[in-house]
Amino acid sequence: MVVSHGHYDHYDMQAFRAYPDKQVPLAVKRGIAKMALKAGFTNVTEMDAWEATSFGPITVTAAPGKHGVPETTYLLQAGGAAVYFGGDTLLIPELSEIGARCQQIDVALLAINGLRIRPAGNRKVVMDAKDAAELCRILQPRYAVPIHYSFTGGRIVDTLFLGYAGSPSQLTQEFQQATALRSPKTSVRVLAPGEPLAIQADGRGGAAAGN
Ligand SMILES: [Zn+2]
Repeated sequence: MVVSHGHYDHYDMQAFRAYPDKQVPLAVKRGIAKMALKAGFTNVTEMDAWEATSFGPITVTAAPGKHGVPETTYLLQAGGAAVYFGGDTLLIPELSEIGARCQQIDVALLAINGLRIRPAGNRKVVMDAKDAAELCRILQPRYAVPIHYSFTGGRIVDTLFLGYAGSPSQLTQEFQQATALRSPKTSVRVLAPGEPLAIQADGRGGAAAGN
């Protein structure tokens, strides 16, 4: 498992405490391991950008990220396949370096809700659909899966503190349209919760499968 940052919707200690396999390898942003250790996990690695570790056959490389709190994103590579998990990052120039370090990303998981914090001058803290499509243009993943578009802070928090770039269906539609224009070779897959994604090997000799 990889954890991009310490916000409750990504690092949910109630869920972590209930998770049965406490030996599962866990990579987390540097500085937040304490909570996972307290929840009982025994194999926790703190990571910053461009540090790497192995989870069995999977190489986990932390990549840059920028959010309201310290953030890292991750590149997961195994058997010739590569998956990029963008966490809650904004689009920042440092993300271009991922392409230099990984020739072909098979699947990119990208947040698209353009979350804004009202009391902080309506500051954007997560990529919106156009930013994520632009990241597809930069990284040219074979498949892109939008994430984080159904997040809600609840009625009161949403009214007082948070702003979204659109409803979930608007966001996914906008991402599909923007990606078709900016990165036409990328296939966008919108998945229902729990729905697996099976992809074909791309002819580079490596088996490529992600879910
Ligand atoms: Zn967050």
